[in-house]
Amino acid sequence: MHPTDIRDPDYFHKVVDCQWACPAHTPVPEYIRLIAAGRHADAYMVNWRSNVFPGILGRTCDRPCEPACRRGRVEEGNGEKPEPVAICRLKRVAADLKGDVRARMPKKAARGNGRRIACIGAGPASLTVARDLAPLGYQVTVYDAEAKAGGFMRTQVPRFRLPESVIDEEVGYVLDLGVEFVGGRRIESMKALLAEGHDAVFVGCGAPRGRDLDIPGRQEAAAHIHIGIDWLASVYFGHVERVGRRVLVLGGGNTAMDCCRSARRLGGEAVTVVVRSGFDEMKASPWEKEDAMHEGIPILDYRVPLAFEHEDGRLTGMRFQRVRAEYGADGRRSLVPTGEPDELIPCDEVLVAVGQENAFPWIERDAGIEFDRWGLPVLDKDTLQSSLPHVLFGGDAAFGPKNIIWAVAHGHEAAVSIDRLLSGEDPRERPAPAVTLVSQKMGIHEWSYDNDISPEERHKVPWAPTELALRRIDLEVELGFDDATAWREAQRCLNCDVQTVFEDGKCIECDACVDICPMDCISFTANGPEDELRTRLTAPALNPTQDLYVSGPLKTARVMVKDEDVCLHCGLCAERCPTGAWDMRKFLLHTTQAGPSCRDARPEAA
Ligand SMILES: Cc1cc2nc3c(=O)[nH]c(=O)nc-3n(C[C@H](O)[C@H](O)[C@H](O)COP(=O)(O)OP(=O)(O)OC[C@H]3O[C@@H](n4cnc5c(N)ncnc54)[C@H](O)[C@@H]3O)c2cc1C
Ligand code: SF4
Ligand code: SF4
Repeated sequence: MHPTDIRDPDYFHKVVDCQWACPAHTPVPEYIRLIAAGRHADAYMVNWRSNVFPGILGRTCDRPCEPACRRGRVEEGNGEKPEPVAICRLKRVAADLKGDVRARMPKKAARGNGRRIACIGAGPASLTVARDLAPLGYQVTVYDAEAKAGGFMRTQVPRFRLPESVIDEEVGYVLDLGVEFVGGRRIESMKALLAEGHDAVFVGCGAPRGRDLDIPGRQEAAAHIHIGIDWLASVYFGHVERVGRRVLVLGGGNTAMDCCRSARRLGGEAVTVVVRSGFDEMKASPWEKEDAMHEGIPILDYRVPLAFEHEDGRLTGMRFQRVRAEYGADGRRSLVPTGEPDELIPCDEVLVAVGQENAFPWIERDAGIEFDRWGLPVLDKDTLQSSLPHVLFGGDAAFGPKNIIWAVAHGHEAAVSIDRLLSGEDPRERPAPAVTLVSQKMGIHEWSYDNDISPEERHKVPWAPTELALRRIDLEVELGFDDATAWREAQRCLNCDVQTVFEDGKCIECDACVDICPMDCISFTANGPEDELRTRLTAPALNPTQDLYVSGPLKTARVMVKDEDVCLHCGLCAERCPTGAWDMRKFLLHTTQAGPSCRDARPEAA
């Protein structure tokens, strides 16, 4: 193998598994250390720069960081199952305990730069564009059909998961940057908007159409059948305050989980979720399923809806076919009838949560914006520009429904594209992030970070008592960690951003680091092709998605090979090394955001 080029910004970034997995590349270990140090406001601001909505995401994020967390990989044998650090819950702690951070927010631009940007929809994607561009002097106007900004975070995510005060606060920080918000204004024509002469238009209108289920009885019993996302909005606006006693929720995604839990709170005594395929295949996050079942909601799987049963328009139940999964020779799964009789489940009301689609009825097909055969805009995946270069798309409007953190990530990228485009630079050239690598050495055996890793299992977040939670639709269920539990959870983090850096020239091949490493990550061996090298290390490196760190040839012509997969970042190798060939250096990556640092003539990174 070639020696590893640690100057490649992606190399050490990939070692910080959580940050690498986060679409907005939030510097997770950095903020976790700040929480452990009681510096909640600093932790909040680190988050705010990346993900814009730490309080909202600390309650609702889809958490792609957690399955990636190294703690889960190295913890085999600890507790019932290896568990990642509770990264998302820690984010919430920073938001809950930060105090007043208004003075730390960027200031409104003192002078405008004369450029006008329109953002359609006030969801997380558009708000991120506005957050990044307004302080630079762009005049950003955000239009939304609803009276208040926030998009689906406000109108679809239920209050028992996300209090409205948290949305008001974090959306407020963005609007306070001098962003003009025009609420209650649905944009009906892209052509008319383009004629207003904006320098760029960002389309962040989400994926607002819930799929229906066109089976017998749908029309006749229509008064008792509702599209899940529309029903949730009606609950938010107070148009729906009660449900029938027996409610069926169709669908296996997070919307279905929000529907069933809301129905339970609005008087549904027998609320049941029914999914076509298997429980394990449901799209809902595991914790959403757990929460629903904890609230006494059964989930019935392998049932294909056949018909709504009714008596003169009054819904009486639903008929389902029982199926099972079968896998063909090509590995593809199909649902085949079990041969059991159809099942009739009695109900008074049905919530259909079987998917969401994009819809752009307001964009004329001759406006110059190309759409593909699925009705999605044709976009440059990096710049998010459409076939009209100054019209960009992001969030759910770009590639179909996803989640808040993806919408934020798109917002940052679109803001960079707009800033470069309007500065006369090519948006397709994406400037590299700013990277620093700083030694954490404070003495011979001392590091500036706490490398004494806690053996504790993941801490559980407390819940409001279920009897109480089910009585009110707006009572937050998760209570969040207190300061002391947050500290203990933060101590589980392995500081993956503090990197083991090896200097070939200083190594005397004494094997002291090999002997002390608790994870057997380090080997001194003859070089070879990667596949073969992986098999003959001190401990075989069997996870090919994680890199090997390979030095240049040493005096004996062997190389040092370190498996980045399971390293604890404990620093014992560096403490033990008699020559200082190993060092522990903190790697900080700042994604490039709109502003001077994203332009060609950029200042040197600090
Ligand atoms: C029930 C439900 C629960 C969810 N829970 C979570 C969760 O827990 N965590 C998570 O990460 N994600 C969750 N999501 C997904 C998340 O809400 C979306 O992925 C995210 O909000 C998308 O952001 P966005 O900025 O693309 O648009 P949206 O948040 O969808 O906002 C779009 C806005 O555009 C406005 N709009 C649309 N058309 C026009 C127009 N023509 N003119 C003016 N305004 C217009 C709409 O009124 C809306 O306010 C959930 C989604 C649903 C449906
Ligand atoms: S242990 Fe800490 S730094 Fe490492 S992946 Fe998990 S949260 Fe991130
Ligand atoms: S920091 Fe060094 S000693 Fe500790 S696990 Fe990693 S390679 Fe081994």
